[in-house]
Amino acid sequence: MAKAPQNAISPTRADDYPEWYQQVIKAADLAEVSPVRGCMVIKPWGWSIWENMQSVLDGMFKETGHENAYFPLFIPMSYLEKEAEHVEGFAKECAVVTHHRLEPGPNGGLVPAGKLDEPLIVRPTSETIIGAMYAKWVQSYRDLPILINQWANVVRWELRTRMFLRTAEFLWQEGHTAHATAEEAIAETRQMLEVYADFAENYMAMPVIKGEKTSWERFPGATMTLSIEAMMQDRKALQAGTSHFLGQNFSKAQEIKFQSQEGTEEYAWTTSWGVSTRLVGGLIMTHSDDDGLICPPRLAPKHIVLLPIYRTDEERATVLAYVDQLSAELKGVQYHGAPVRVLVDDRDIRGGEKTWQHIKKGVPLRAEIGPRDVAGGSVFLARRDQSPKEKQGVPKDQLVATITTLLDEIQTNLFERAKKLRDDNSRTIDKLEDLIAYFTPQNEERPEIHGGFAYCHCADDKAVEEELKKLKLTVRCIPVEGDDEPGPCIFTGQPTQRRAVIAKAY
Ligand code: AMP
Repeated sequence: MAKAPQNAISPTRADDYPEWYQQVIKAADLAEVSPVRGCMVIKPWGWSIWENMQSVLDGMFKETGHENAYFPLFIPMSYLEKEAEHVEGFAKECAVVTHHRLEPGPNGGLVPAGKLDEPLIVRPTSETIIGAMYAKWVQSYRDLPILINQWANVVRWELRTRMFLRTAEFLWQEGHTAHATAEEAIAETRQMLEVYADFAENYMAMPVIKGEKTSWERFPGATMTLSIEAMMQDRKALQAGTSHFLGQNFSKAQEIKFQSQEGTEEYAWTTSWGVSTRLVGGLIMTHSDDDGLICPPRLAPKHIVLLPIYRTDEERATVLAYVDQLSAELKGVQYHGAPVRVLVDDRDIRGGEKTWQHIKKGVPLRAEIGPRDVAGGSVFLARRDQSPKEKQGVPKDQLVATITTLLDEIQTNLFERAKKLRDDNSRTIDKLEDLIAYFTPQNEERPEIHGGFAYCHCADDKAVEEELKKLKLTVRCIPVEGDDEPGPCIFTGQPTQRRAVIAKAY
């Protein structure tokens, strides 16, 4: 075994968290910046994580009564103009198509030609185009509810981009539903927040706070925005998913009308909800360490990698036969309803280097198998959630019999670790000076050690938003769970019903 380097990732999390994040993505071969500004290339290992996320979420959406459909990438500009707040929110980051062909230009190059009568917007979100279709599909209360989800890419011309977390083009799902009553639409909005929280906690092993956004953080055009918020290892918050109750704002703008059971004409109540490839960034930042990615087993592209070790051709034959046999046995085991995902890595690369590649890629379990293990009927097993030095000999049959328990243990351990970090870095604060102190570095050499989630009373007021901006802080949400505890806003003294979560945010 080659001597392990001190840390596979440089810089470490403590030294430079943002750069560490980029280096983990590179070392795990998840994605790469592309020649196109703000747009990334998702490589097979990263794509596989996203695919696993999609597959689980898709099942959850269908389980809650939704169907998938697909709507156009282009939205006529006039559609976007119909809902005033919505236009204002998205106008600054729209990619606009104005021409439909290219012609030879003066210097041998090409110039756009064939000007469109009406510019088309590359969808930043699809409320308007989907709403236009719902207006046609809905006539009577019998046509409701409509429960549709779309898997798609969207474009928001973000100025400061970071791989997975904020890109100009990103992949997501957007659910769009229309209902006969406000109560039903609100119940849908809450239900989808629960689905997202369930996914984040039980599949990503990422603890989240479910809450409501303040008016100034709401989705443009929404009446209520709910979100799930997670703490990353640098103690900043990541908004991981949103679920919006749109009231009748979009249905009025788009004429989604229906005849009620009583014969009156009513506007429908609509919702929309989405999670994006940002989740992959959240997964990376929640669990990874200074040796690279750590992938929670339930979303891991591979659960276990088998690493044959041999010197001679003769050894090769025996070791590979044993490894193939083990691989087949492991693939016969069901882990949460699907076969265990096994990778046999027989590439002709030095053993140490090969092992480190899989450490950096975050494979939950690694089994090294040499001639001695074959003779003893065992494997040399390591868990990615433990130090690379911790390895132990395990009888092969025991590995097959206990692999699902092991994977579940890793999954639980990752969740508990992340939850502990969040709990250790959350506190209740009642005075402005304490809030400022909490977010001020106490140690010049470790400026990253400060802050976290501050639970404060905070009024839903423009003045508060301005004050928070000056402190580079944000209200993440007002948690939907927990006790009501009225108190005065720490900025304005206005009475508030319950505490909000304040944090620095991505
Ligand atoms: P929204 O439509 O603004 O509520 O966003 C829906 C989801 O997409 C949220 O979960 C966001 O976290 C995520 N999201 C928003 N903007 C971006 C972006 N530029 N890159 C990646 N994900 C994003």
